Amino acid sequence: MKNEPCCKCKTELSTVRLRHTFYCNKCFVYTFVGKYRSNLNRSKAIGRKKGKVLLACSGGPSSIAMLHLTSTFMVINPNEKKKVAMVPSAVVCHIDESTLFGEQEGSSAKLQAMVETKYPQLSFLSQRMEDVFDADFEKRMKNMAGTNRDYEHLVQLLQQSNTDASNMTNSDRLKDLFNNISKNTAKEDLYWNFKFTMLLGIARKEGCDYIFMADSSTRQAIKMISKISNGRGYSIPFDVGLEVDGCFDDVVILRPMKDMLAKEMGMYNRLHGIDHDVTAPFNWGTYMPPKSSIERLTEDFIVGLDRDFPSTVSTISRTASKLTPHSNIDYSKSCAICQMPYEANIPEWRKHITVTKVEQRSGDDQSSCLQEGCCGGSKEDGGCGTGGGGGGCSSDTGPVADLNAYLCYSCQVNLKDYKNDAVEMLPPFVVQKVYDQEREQRLREQIQEFLIDDDDDE
Ligand SMILES: [Zn+2]
Ligand SMILES: [Zn+2]
Repeated sequence: MKNEPCCKCKTELSTVRLRHTFYCNKCFVYTFVGKYRSNLNRSKAIGRKKGKVLLACSGGPSSIAMLHLTSTFMVINPNEKKKVAMVPSAVVCHIDESTLFGEQEGSSAKLQAMVETKYPQLSFLSQRMEDVFDADFEKRMKNMAGTNRDYEHLVQLLQQSNTDASNMTNSDRLKDLFNNISKNTAKEDLYWNFKFTMLLGIARKEGCDYIFMADSSTRQAIKMISKISNGRGYSIPFDVGLEVDGCFDDVVILRPMKDMLAKEMGMYNRLHGIDHDVTAPFNWGTYMPPKSSIERLTEDFIVGLDRDFPSTVSTISRTASKLTPHSNIDYSKSCAICQMPYEANIPEWRKHITVTKVEQRSGDDQSSCLQEGCCGGSKEDGGCGTGGGGGGCSSDTGPVADLNAYLCYSCQVNLKDYKNDAVEMLPPFVVQKVYDQEREQRLREQIQEFLIDDDDDE
């Protein structure tokens, strides 16, 4: 490599090799920054409106590179006609997972210190993952003003069901839930869904118009294959696309790093002296054999293949970026667990697999069926059969809503790996979402009836 000239300037000797291309340091950085800039320029949403950005930061190499890059785009370019910075303001958001992974202890403080000293123009926010169980979480996330009677009622019920048994802390709840999920694939999925839900909620609370995710093209390729294997084909354009606009009414998701390889991130960080800011990621897949989860297996497969065939990742990523959302997607509905839109009528063909039920009292008075010994049913026993000998909710619970009707296919499948009463241990936002959507549906039906009546009268 030492004797190869840089493919761009042709004058310098190359120092960086990417696939079959050789760069000098300067040209490498120029190309790298160019990819980020062109991804921002390609965003239709940013073209319409420059706004506050939430930078999702795990502390891994990609997110550290993203912080550095973004900070350079927060200044106004003097050559630009419009005197607005590409990113006018940004907040770094870290979800602290140390309750689940003790190895992550202190990573949040390290990130905070780093942001405060190196990026004074960015603000820093850290939220512990167990806060997802905070009864107040959903409310704060939605920026709900004042009190809401329905909401108070729901919180009451959840607090009853969650605190009656013991004085568990939210950390206990988080650990308990994950300890009761048997497969790593289902764990990884749920853990990601919590993170995403939290990021979305925090972005709304902070008044951010955008969430920047630091997925590299290597991560994109792994995500695409593993998510399809997980039964997530339907929402794949939202999971891997450059820009997700219109899916979460007020927040646009952008993946500005999606054209950079993991290797490029490492190189960029090294050249800017920020590689020591990286916290090595740690989760269930770390130090585990490839067969421990679908994602871990896919990672092993793609990274291995890419070693011998260096265009593997870029080919998969390019294919992924061509995917567009299905035309029949109903954006008014989204999965109660993963927040993604889902295909209609899954419950119809999966009716025989009932996971659990959410109780639905008459009128607006509604609660989740989280009583002990009720409805904690697994897929196999058709829900609601625990202890009750299949007699349905044994207490005076009235009609029930099927949780499956509010979940995407993939989340439904994951529930089969929930042991014991793990379904009942899900955080309040899941029940809240079922409740909201159920009420919306009823409202829609009522309006429809009225419209038909009106038609008949004429
Ligand atoms: Zn060069
Ligand atoms: Zn889902």
